[in-house]
Amino acid sequence: MKLFRSLRKVAARLYVRPTRAERHGHQSDGLVRLTFDDNGDADSIHAILEKLSEDRVRAGFFLIGDWVDDNPDLVAAIEAQGHWLGNHTRSHRRLRYLPPGGIYEQVVDGPGRLRPPFGDYGGRVRRVAARLGMEIWYWTHDTRDWAADITADEIIANGTRDLHPGAVILLHLWAPRTPEALPGLIREIRQRGLQLEELDGN
Ligand SMILES: [Zn+2]
Repeated sequence: MKLFRSLRKVAARLYVRPTRAERHGHQSDGLVRLTFDDNGDADSIHAILEKLSEDRVRAGFFLIGDWVDDNPDLVAAIEAQGHWLGNHTRSHRRLRYLPPGGIYEQVVDGPGRLRPPFGDYGGRVRRVAARLGMEIWYWTHDTRDWAADITADEIIANGTRDLHPGAVILLHLWAPRTPEALPGLIREIRQRGLQLEELDGN
C-alpha cells in the first residue's frame, strides 16, 4: 500500500501533455485568440490596449491574482475595453509540485479559464480544475516574446507559423517587443483569411 501511495504521488507530479481541448481552449468557433499572460507596468499595458483597440481585437488576459489585487485601475482598463480575463493563479507557482490543497488555493479565486504558470501541470492540477469547473487553457503558438533577444518580426513569425482556425497565441504583458509586434501580427493573421476574436461595436 505504501509503495502504491508513493507511486501515485510520483504519477501526480508527472508532466502531462496538453490535450487538444486544452490547447484550443475548448473552443470550436474557429476564431484565433491572442492571450496575454502575467502582469506588466501601466505603460506596457496601455500600449497593448491601444493596439488592440485600433484593430478591434478582443484578447484574453491571464492575470496573476496578487497583481490583480494591487492594480485595480489597470484591470478595470482591460475590462472596460471588453477583453476577457483568465486565471493565471494567485502567485505564479509551479502547480505540478503543490498538493491538491495548495493548487486549490492558487486557483480558486480566479476566473474559470485557467492557464497554469509555465504551462506546467499534471494530473492533480487537472483534477482540481475539473472539480472547480475550470477549463485549462494552454496555447497552440508560443511567440517566444519572453526571450531576451527576440525581435518583433520573430514574434510575428512564431505566432503565425502553421496557423489554423482555433489557434491560441501566447504573449506576455511585460514583454518589451510585444506592443510593437501586435499590428503586424494581427495583419498577418487576417491576411491569411483567419478571423480573430473581435471587440464589439466599431
Ligand atoms: Zn506566466
